[in-house]
Amino acid sequence: MADFDGLNESLTARKSQHLYRTRRVLSSAQKPEQEVNGRQVLSFCSNDYLGLANDPEVKSAFISATEEFGVGSGASHLVNGHSELHHQLEVALAEFTGRDRAVLFSTGYMANLGAIAALVGKGDTILQDRWNHASLIDAGLSCGARFKRYQHNDMSSLEQRLCGAKGGRTLIVTDGVFSMDGDLAPLDQVANLADQYNACLMVDDAHGLGVLGTAGAGCAEHFQLNQQQLPVLMGTLGKAFGTFGAFIAGSESMVETMIQQARTYIYTTALPPAVAAATLVSIERIKQDQWRRDQLLRLTERFREGASRIGFTLMPSHTPIQPILVGSERLALDLSQALEDRGLLITAIRPPTVPKGTARLRVTFSAAHSELQLERLLNGLSDVYQALSDRDRDSLARAADCFSDHL
Ligand SMILES: *Cc1c(COP(=O)(O)O)cnc(C)c1O
Repeated sequence: MADFDGLNESLTARKSQHLYRTRRVLSSAQKPEQEVNGRQVLSFCSNDYLGLANDPEVKSAFISATEEFGVGSGASHLVNGHSELHHQLEVALAEFTGRDRAVLFSTGYMANLGAIAALVGKGDTILQDRWNHASLIDAGLSCGARFKRYQHNDMSSLEQRLCGAKGGRTLIVTDGVFSMDGDLAPLDQVANLADQYNACLMVDDAHGLGVLGTAGAGCAEHFQLNQQQLPVLMGTLGKAFGTFGAFIAGSESMVETMIQQARTYIYTTALPPAVAAATLVSIERIKQDQWRRDQLLRLTERFREGASRIGFTLMPSHTPIQPILVGSERLALDLSQALEDRGLLITAIRPPTVPKGTARLRVTFSAAHSELQLERLLNGLSDVYQALSDRDRDSLARAADCFSDHL
């Protein structure tokens, strides 16, 4: 173990830098009122945007499919783990996203790693927004293609890199909704540039699906981008769908390439079939329950108004991801703890998840939150703000400048 002697030292160093992460133990379902570490809290940090993770219809579909199909899928899709329920879900996801075909992956992380490596490699170029999700960055770094990042949502920075791409394929990859910021990529402009430079566009819509678009079909619907303009659409099922897993949707040949070549598709166990059955019901809820998206919008706008009035700095986001910019890691942890002491659960997001000096409290809303619960959040935020020292309040105010430096 000689080579591993430094483990304790580096763990201790992390603690002293306020970067140490700990897990809370949840003893109830994913819903606004939760039991966490043995205590009742009101939570504002899940990605269950539509409140479907604990929806009675979704649960009952899961339970009856378990009765019929058992728990484990037992094998990978290409061996004999591909059930009729997986098949039906792929058909429904293709229809929902307006694509020719969709293929399921076991997680979003694996979908991104597998899809990118199946599409580009040595001799190709991959261009990514520098704030993309870690799974996309990891995929870019490991796929063998020339990997370049462009400035966040900066079309001239993207165009500069497109001009520099030579030979092979060029793949542009961006989050649709940025997971730690809540802002949208200007996908209409990105798609135009892709077209102009003969590049292919891939969008990770983990946080847009279910939330954006009149029918909840996400960024592609919001920006009205068809399969030709946005050929590689990736979505996750663990967020607004309230279940688990992910998919890639697009043309017949693109999806077939995933099945033949994506290693994270081929060499892993298929999702439990009951997850597919539950997700089929989620899609129906997403399509039909406009009230869930309306509720999210109401909560989001009222929160923005209330939190800015208290004195907090918010981000340019109109999605249910509403981070409060804090700046220092220490202050983000202190605020999160002070809120937890008041029964409000909001996680501090720190580097390396976000750039240094831009630690934040990532507030997220769910359609399952009530207006009364929003009031409790705003009251708690107001209390903790009032209790801050002048120095901490100054540092909160300065976080906004530090954030613009990172743009
Ligand atoms: C959550 C997330 C993923 C990973 O999805 P999992 O199914 O949780 O592995 C990928 N991309 C983005 C933008 C995400 O937010």
